[in-house]
Amino acid sequence: MSNGIEFRNVTKRYGTDPSAPLAVKGISFEVPVGTLTTILGPSGCGKTTTLRMIAGLESPTSGAILMGGRDVTTLGPAERNVSMMFQSYALFPHMNVIENVGYGLKMSGVKKDEIARRARETLASVGLVDFDERLPSELSGGQQQRVALARALVLEPAVLLFDEPLSNLDARLRREMREEIRGLQQRLGLTVAYVTHDQSEALAVSDQIIVMDHGVIAQTGTPEQLYSRPESEFVAGFMGEASVFPATAQADGRVVLGPLLLAPRHSATPGPVKVAVRPEAWVIGEPAGLPATLRKAAYLGGYYEYGFDTALGPVFVVSTDLARKFGVGAETTLTLGTHGVSVVPVGG
Ligand code: ATP
Repeated sequence: MSNGIEFRNVTKRYGTDPSAPLAVKGISFEVPVGTLTTILGPSGCGKTTTLRMIAGLESPTSGAILMGGRDVTTLGPAERNVSMMFQSYALFPHMNVIENVGYGLKMSGVKKDEIARRARETLASVGLVDFDERLPSELSGGQQQRVALARALVLEPAVLLFDEPLSNLDARLRREMREEIRGLQQRLGLTVAYVTHDQSEALAVSDQIIVMDHGVIAQTGTPEQLYSRPESEFVAGFMGEASVFPATAQADGRVVLGPLLLAPRHSATPGPVKVAVRPEAWVIGEPAGLPATLRKAAYLGGYYEYGFDTALGPVFVVSTDLARKFGVGAETTLTLGTHGVSVVPVGG
């Protein structure tokens, strides 16, 4: 598949002081055409800087950026055929919907009739008809979001960029809009780079996720790969819940975790390791397990959440076995299968 976006060993330092730290420290990745890649990470990890370098709003200190195989490293935003949607969607408050959507086309000298036609078509593609004359203040948050999306799409960009597009919305609308963005991206085959700090949003919308930490890429993969096979404690903890314990990998590939002998699906170098366990990976009440005392329990509709005390430390467990409820103080055992258990390096 040809490349939509390619970063080759890109660094970014703000300002002119060569002793200032790098905001982005030599990252390489590809966003294939027609796919959605999320750049995910905690505040200050370099997500926005990376997105702005794709847009041409910041230039790299070193390295190369390619789009469609063409080196665009030194090109400005206007020469890149990229549209960006920001946190605040910044619609022009005094312009109605159709004028907002048509604005970019007007600026590029497209004829009036064609502007109206293309703006209407694009509004229809985001499910917004009969709102042409409304001002942004007369629209709901979700409708404003769609206008902003239409305004970006009408320019038919090769690449569409989103910077935390849903952070202004309430939880329900956020869920709706992320499904819409994903649906639209898939229907129209758009190439999208999407920045968020919200891991559940990243899991829900992405073909590929790039997890960043302190200016470097911690791991790249599909949502399933990052959740089920994190390669570091950081990624395990960032991509959902995980209990992390020190353990020992043996030469035979098995891993000793307290009284448990694990047979992980992926081997580790013998010696000290860490084991990251998803809350749904634990099996309660099997023989020869880790002794555990229930400290707290919560019923959450489709499942229970349990907090156990064990010799390894506190353990967080999610159980969908609704027929069996444990009371606080109950003594039981915990064992592990192979799913939801990852062996990661110490200090990773
Ligand atoms: P957030 O989620 O908080 O927006 P982020 O992951 O998008 O964070 P960036 O905005 O890319 O992070 O910032 C990365 C680093 O670069 C941070 O240390 C930040 O302080 C620094 N930085 C960002 N913009 C500038 C700037 N214009 N001048 C100097 N330093 C900057």
